[in-house]
Amino acid sequence: MTVIPAFDVTEQFQTLGPDINRAVAAVLASGQYINGPAVEAFAHSFREYVGTEHCVVCNSGTDALYLALRALNIGPGDEVITPSFTFIATAEVISAVGATPVFVDIDLDSFTLDCTRLEAALSDRTRAIMPVHLFGQPVDLGAILDLAQRYGLAVVEDCAQATGAQWQGRSVGSIGQVGCFSFYPTKNLGGCGDGGAITTNDGDLAATMTMLREHGSRVKYHHEAIGVNSRLDSVQAAILAIKLGHLEGWNQQRRQIAATYQQLLSGLEEVICPQQGGLGQGVWNQYTVRLTGATATGGQRDRVQQLLRQAGVITAVYYPLPLHLQPVYRHLGYQPGDLPASETAAHQVLSLPMFPELRVDQQERVVAQLKTALVEVGLTAAVASGIS
Ligand SMILES: *Cc1c(COP(=O)(O)O)cnc(C)c1O
Repeated sequence: MTVIPAFDVTEQFQTLGPDINRAVAAVLASGQYINGPAVEAFAHSFREYVGTEHCVVCNSGTDALYLALRALNIGPGDEVITPSFTFIATAEVISAVGATPVFVDIDLDSFTLDCTRLEAALSDRTRAIMPVHLFGQPVDLGAILDLAQRYGLAVVEDCAQATGAQWQGRSVGSIGQVGCFSFYPTKNLGGCGDGGAITTNDGDLAATMTMLREHGSRVKYHHEAIGVNSRLDSVQAAILAIKLGHLEGWNQQRRQIAATYQQLLSGLEEVICPQQGGLGQGVWNQYTVRLTGATATGGQRDRVQQLLRQAGVITAVYYPLPLHLQPVYRHLGYQPGDLPASETAAHQVLSLPMFPELRVDQQERVVAQLKTALVEVGLTAAVASGIS
């Protein structure tokens, strides 16, 4: 039995291998392993791709978010509004700079911030809003920008899962004060290791982030702030520069795969397909369905996942526990039930295999096995008769 993985990062290396090997060899021969022309060239291409005046590349998406908050001078006593249903890094950096995350619920259809709940989360300590373009779905930023303007808040876009996504014709990462990207291997633009970037139109912010990235130094061995060491390796920059040229094509393939999934899953009432669209254009870092019959205590979703695994279909659960209920945030005092949509998502979501090279026959096998698993777990008695 061949296994269908949740993602496959080796396929891109199969096709681009010769180009990548040549570019890596050139960096190795140059002796410029930190900063230098490969890093400059990629930063330039990436800011042109996103459409901002500045791009500061760094070591990871997490560092990108951290550097953004530091440059915005957000720290102890400050609050930052962010969704609870996201990867830990989004909130972790808020805590890392000494500020407090204020978790807001999501809209279950888009898995992104429920903007109708933002105003209630504001206090006189709120300094910024961090929307997350989760799974590649651009957040509908209208209400967020409006609120930020009215209350003088910064908007820091977490674009880690959404490189190439657009909102109202503009690339994510070019709309708020700062956009933060990750080049972790499974993201839409993935390197062969860690990497990240920060985009902005604010020259002062870009200079401050560069300073913080280099041990708080603008002039070598003169330090004006406690910074970090967070550079993008030249080898990664050279690889990312090659891959960036293919990103639009890969994102288009992801859209096609998403459309095929939607078609194959139509008629399955127990499976809610994700929609990416509205005012934007998504890039499908994940294809995440909701199993509507799954309950918090039933464990049905986990059993479906297990049955799929036994049938050679690997899926993922992003994310099984929302951040407001994580042990690390117990001190903030949130209770189960506080953010119901995030909690519902956490026990109903299942991310199906999604990567640009996924074939239609593989998708058909994924969906056939999903149908079988739903029946076995008792989540889909209604359509059991329709299964051959
Ligand atoms: C991956 C991810 C990050 C962190 O990026 P790294 O490069 O892994 O540090 C931040 N936020 C979200 C939503 C992510 O998915």
